[in-house]
Amino acid sequence: MSAVVSVKPHEKYFGVYVVELDDGTVRLATKNLVPGHRVYGERLIKYEGVEYREWNAFRSKLAAALINGLTEQPISQGDIVLYLGVASGTTASHISDIVGPKGRIYGVDVAPRVMREFIVVADVRKNLFPILGDARKPQEYRHVVEAVNGIYADIAQPEQASIVADNADMFLKDGGYLLLAIKARSIDVTKEPSEIYKREINTLRERGFEIVDVVHLEPYDKDHAMIYARYRRNK
Ligand code: SAM
Repeated sequence: MSAVVSVKPHEKYFGVYVVELDDGTVRLATKNLVPGHRVYGERLIKYEGVEYREWNAFRSKLAAALINGLTEQPISQGDIVLYLGVASGTTASHISDIVGPKGRIYGVDVAPRVMREFIVVADVRKNLFPILGDARKPQEYRHVVEAVNGIYADIAQPEQASIVADNADMFLKDGGYLLLAIKARSIDVTKEPSEIYKREINTLRERGFEIVDVVHLEPYDKDHAMIYARYRRNK
């Protein structure tokens, strides 16, 4: 394993660190909220008395979007985030590092098997709140989720945009952010995106979102793009 040369805060992205290795490559990392604990077998890096967790872009679409140059990293310290399709918490654990102990992440997933694994992660990360539920029925978790600063969505469903918009109407603050992983297979990034992809973006626009950026995730994930948008209530 290559040795760590330095760990520095990312020049552009809050809560994200750049790890330089002695083989000349760099990796992303977040500061470990729970030192000594791994979530998905990631490398723990000790540097100048602080522990970081390597953020694997092949495992997390958000890391891939950041490496590929997303215009901003909108998640701040203390944020409250609704995460749709949290699965076993790989990406959510890094968002948990970023929002820190004063933030909260409500993690929704419909599959009991992954939810069981997420509960184990949430047991040690006190800012994660597991919800076994269907993102198509936000009214069913309305009583446990509060107004949120942002929504992260990766539910791999058709009609994802309208599902996300229904959740936004219920929970997302005016001006809040959306990070949406969307199916967008295209071999050449300069080529036109698929019809489905265009339709989803139109749905978001019609439902009050301003699209800030769209980043394809190749080579880390060939099938998806990350949409970053802002929500305007009553637009
Ligand atoms: N975002 C995760 C990460 O980066 O760590 C990976 C998410 S995985 C690609 C998609 C997840 O969406 C699955 O765990 C699946 O159970 C969940 N899902 C699919 N449909 C859903 C729905 N209607 N409501 C909630 N979760 C759903």
